[in-house]
Amino acid sequence: MNPLENIRIVLVDPKYGGNIGAVCRVLMNMGITDLALVAPHNKLDWAEARKLAYHAEGLLEAHNVFQTLEEAVADCTVVAGTSARTGMYRDHAGLPREIAPVVIDSAAHHKAALVFGREDKGLFNEELAVCTHIINIPSSELYRSLNLSHAVMVCCYELFLLAGGGSDYKPPEERSPEAGSAMRERLFETWSAMMLETGFCEEEKLGHMMLGLRRIFSRGKLTENDVRILLGLAKQSRWVAGELKRRQAK
Ligand code: SAH
Repeated sequence: MNPLENIRIVLVDPKYGGNIGAVCRVLMNMGITDLALVAPHNKLDWAEARKLAYHAEGLLEAHNVFQTLEEAVADCTVVAGTSARTGMYRDHAGLPREIAPVVIDSAAHHKAALVFGREDKGLFNEELAVCTHIINIPSSELYRSLNLSHAVMVCCYELFLLAGGGSDYKPPEERSPEAGSAMRERLFETWSAMMLETGFCEEEKLGHMMLGLRRIFSRGKLTENDVRILLGLAKQSRWVAGELKRRQAK
């Protein structure tokens, strides 16, 4: 069974419909479908929620409502709370990346919950006490607390990756093979000749220059196509330098 199907996202007393909608979109992006709201505000802007859910309206409609956090997580084994602050109840907080394996391992056999707090006051200590784990997302001291849906995304992204999402991603491959030593040396030889023939540097400075160039070209992968372009440039420069000399000699 896909562990993501056993993961419930619990929003405690959310104040803004827009945030709930944005959370629905995040959950759909990350393959999680179980959304629970605890004591949602009775003046929530549901139109705004639908607007931000965009393509995830079904998930929004399917949410469950509970009056207390205890009820929302009653059937869960691991309950991971999130907090922007550290301190009481929070000093054993872990990174999303550290807690994600605990959640995914447990979700292979049991229901697991991730709990998020109110936009204005976060989770109360009594609510954090119900949690078996606390997650803190590191953020700048300029502004510690994230937008609710952004915090949900950071946590769910880690769960998604761990559950194997994104494993079919392959980094783009170079079509041209990486150049071997013989081809590279041919490049350096041609460039040495070009640098002398165009008057770019004197014979005695050449060794030093070439060391610099070798360093530059070793910094990234040089493909055979790259070498062909660089060789072409050097050959053309040598031809122009020769042509100039021939004209001056006439
Ligand atoms: N002023 C509140 C901030 C609440 S932000 C406070 O001090 O707690 C709304 C919710 O987003 C939080 O309850 C938490 O669930 C989540 N959140 C925001 N920033 C977070 C962070 N840096 N780490 C973990 N969760 C965070």
